[in-house]
Amino acid sequence: MAIMIKTPQEIEKMRRSGRVLRQVHDAIKPLVVAGATTLDLEIKANEVIASFGAKAAFKGYHGFPAALCTSLNDQVVHGMPSERTVLKDGDILSIDCGVIVDGFYSDAAVTYAIGTPTPQTKRLLAVTQASLEAAIQEAVVGGRLFDISATVQEICEAEGFGVVKEFVGHGIGKAMHEDPQVPNFGTRGKGPRLKAGMVLAIEPMINAGSAEVKVLKDGWTAVTVDGSYSAHFEHTVAITKDGPVVLTR
Ligand code: MG
Ligand code: MG
Repeated sequence: MAIMIKTPQEIEKMRRSGRVLRQVHDAIKPLVVAGATTLDLEIKANEVIASFGAKAAFKGYHGFPAALCTSLNDQVVHGMPSERTVLKDGDILSIDCGVIVDGFYSDAAVTYAIGTPTPQTKRLLAVTQASLEAAIQEAVVGGRLFDISATVQEICEAEGFGVVKEFVGHGIGKAMHEDPQVPNFGTRGKGPRLKAGMVLAIEPMINAGSAEVKVLKDGWTAVTVDGSYSAHFEHTVAITKDGPVVLTR
């Protein structure tokens, strides 16, 4: 499938979608504390999404049951909210959410530390987030797709972290997953030429230890094979002639 080019009007609609999603994340953030359950966060997310007349993009997607993916500690992505998952000091929690507003999707993720993280955990979160920010700067007209990928890989591997290969970023628009795939690894100077009107979900998924992941028996939750913590940060980013525009900021 060809990479869809969005008109400025479509990007404006995606910006509105991204603004709603930002407010979902902002509303959840104060609830990410020791003693809360991931179901508490899910309930809040649904309230906020409904208050905007928006739709939760993940719910029902290939049968996924929730608006949020809540991935705890060694869970990489696609963890499911549960009243049995109680947050405690020293945990990290990745929260991924997507919404649909006026037919357009947005997708963003963040990883929070609960209480006091170890120095290693702190570094994992800081480096993963920094790799996303650096990768966004590569989302420019005339660049190459894998400049984005290589940027994440270089920054995270230089810190000794494992770059997850099985899950990748993606184009986004009228569907949650459009072409192209946006891997977090690759060769600088390769891949499709980046053009104005492309919109990408850029999302480093980075393990404190080995890059290896496996999916649990629930068919969804991906975890690190070595039990190390994993971080996930994501933004929906439009490539424009004026540079990258983060629609989910
Ligand atoms: Mg996401
Ligand atoms: Mg995504």
